[in-house]
Amino acid sequence: MDTILVVNAGSSSLKFEVFAIADGLKKLLRGQMEGIGTAPRLHIKGSDGQVLAENAHAPNDVPDLITAMRFVGAWLREHHEGRLVAVGHRVVHGGPDYDRPILLDEAVLTDLERLVPLAPLHQPNNLAPIRAVLERRPDLPQIACFDTSFHRGHSLVASHYAIPEHFFEEGVRRYGFHGLSYEYVAGKLHDVAPGIANGRVIVAHLGSGASMCALLGGKSIESTLGFTALDGLPMGTRCGQIDPGVILYLLQQLGMAPKEVENLLYKDSGLKGLSGVSNDVRALLASDDPRAAFALEHFVHRIGLNAGMLAAALGGLDAFVFTAGIGENSPVLRARIAAKLEWLGAKIDPARNAAGELDISTPDSKVRLYVVPTDEELMIARHTLALLN
Ligand code: AMP
Repeated sequence: MDTILVVNAGSSSLKFEVFAIADGLKKLLRGQMEGIGTAPRLHIKGSDGQVLAENAHAPNDVPDLITAMRFVGAWLREHHEGRLVAVGHRVVHGGPDYDRPILLDEAVLTDLERLVPLAPLHQPNNLAPIRAVLERRPDLPQIACFDTSFHRGHSLVASHYAIPEHFFEEGVRRYGFHGLSYEYVAGKLHDVAPGIANGRVIVAHLGSGASMCALLGGKSIESTLGFTALDGLPMGTRCGQIDPGVILYLLQQLGMAPKEVENLLYKDSGLKGLSGVSNDVRALLASDDPRAAFALEHFVHRIGLNAGMLAAALGGLDAFVFTAGIGENSPVLRARIAAKLEWLGAKIDPARNAAGELDISTPDSKVRLYVVPTDEELMIARHTLALLN
């Protein structure tokens, strides 16, 4: 059995899935090495949810992503019978040039390393396992799939900031992210609601990272995310849209160091910073602290504002799609967000919403409301298979 390994490497965790190539793609297992360098734990589950591995390791045994990758490789070689024929990687930034997945070699990898300054917190982690595999198994095809590619068709007007043009040429652009999720959802919508998929759709990827994308005829034309993954909606720990004057104030008046500002905006802001309670929507919903309720109110408010902006970009709205952790699992937040879309003609059906059905709108709703679970790993596996073929 030939298999594809999909790798999604973050700062302290390495997520992976294995797919069999058999009549298309079949998910065999998914796993995660978390707590890399602090309290490493490897969990692996089979496709039917059974636990295949649950191992704790000493921090010194798994100090970084490269050793985590070795652990995963060793586990797969020992316990997994498939023949690995390719590895697909999630890479956050493809810069201005990579508008589709690409087969990796030394030259491409060096090129992608040049993009590290554009995504300093994510790109190095995404690239480290690629280099590790390239050194150990140069014969094994590796494919990079970018979070930015799906948005590369944005118009020049949408891609610009109003700063002197040379910055655009140097790469300071509105890129947009979560592209693999939007590409998956756009494809799924095409299967389940083809009439709608060809129309004007907003997809809200609401997870620990959150953004929204405007799809016209299945293609991305606008996104709430821009140059980095900080813009747009407030997220679990990231600030979302903020007046750049606030950053100047933090640096110049409060004398904060750039690294402190970075930590504040990426790790201590968003729902966590605003509530002082948690970055997790489940914890906020369960809390009786008024700041938790306030943070959620702010989140919903900003989603409503951004939906208006994207509806303007689309010239109207045919459907609004919820996806990712919050969008797929929280009927309460879906209902509150849908209320912000009433002026556009959206009407939610409470029973369908509670049941998490695909279409959660009433029959007379002018804007259809959908819940479409995303699957970024399957998207990466599909791209990897397509390039292999
Ligand atoms: P993701 O990044 O897509 O895995 O989404 C993670 C986020 O989804 C978590 O931080 C939670 O806030 C949220 N989430 C997951 N399950 C639920 C739920 N049942 N109700 C509300 N939020 C949820």
